[in-house]
Amino acid sequence: MVRWGMVIDLQRCISCYACVVACKQEHFLPPGVFWNRLVVSETGKYPTVTKIAYPVLCNHCEDAICVKVCPAGATVKREDGIVSIDYDACVGCRYCVVACPYQQRTYNANTPAEYFPGQGLTEFEVIGQKLYPLQKGTALKCNFCLERIDEGLKKGLQPGVDREASPACVITCPAKARYFGNLDDPNSEVSRLIKEKKASQFHPEFGTNPSVYYISR
Ligand code: SF4
Ligand code: SF4
Repeated sequence: MVRWGMVIDLQRCISCYACVVACKQEHFLPPGVFWNRLVVSETGKYPTVTKIAYPVLCNHCEDAICVKVCPAGATVKREDGIVSIDYDACVGCRYCVVACPYQQRTYNANTPAEYFPGQGLTEFEVIGQKLYPLQKGTALKCNFCLERIDEGLKKGLQPGVDREASPACVITCPAKARYFGNLDDPNSEVSRLIKEKKASQFHPEFGTNPSVYYISR
């Protein structure tokens, strides 16, 4: 079986935001919408302070609450573990936005969103709306770059190993802090890292069994 998952090494993350930008670019996300974020905090006391960043994204939970609450069958869990949204089926009720304990969903409002209001769409936005139409009035969230995975697999590539078949945030990270692979394969890099580095899930007490793991500092 395949269950796609991610490991994020907090020891390696340098808080550069490259993953955040790569995600925005890959999915042509409108202003204010982020599928990949950094939660930043500080410890210590001036002048000896340390900045701590936690990259967060949809956890593609095994027991996904967002799937359970969706009345339209729009949020589904694929056989490979990816939780995805069918924009045509989504009725915009936002039950999932409220239900996600990780606050990883955004509602894409009906109002037109432009990066430079009143100045027209940039070339980037025009291309994005053609290539990757995100429907307004629907829920949005990270999809583990499923289109890259699906297309890569068709070409015989290996997600997490081959760049073309791996999530944009993983291949962009200059610090190699993000890993992607099959959690069900005990020999995959993600499984090895989880075991050897004792990687853990964010808020396991939520009981959703996330597919994103963190190697702590
Ligand atoms: S993190 Fe939230 S949106 Fe993602 S699968 Fe889990 S419950 Fe659903
Ligand atoms: S907003 Fe869309 S995906 Fe979320 S629960 Fe409602 S119909 Fe389902």
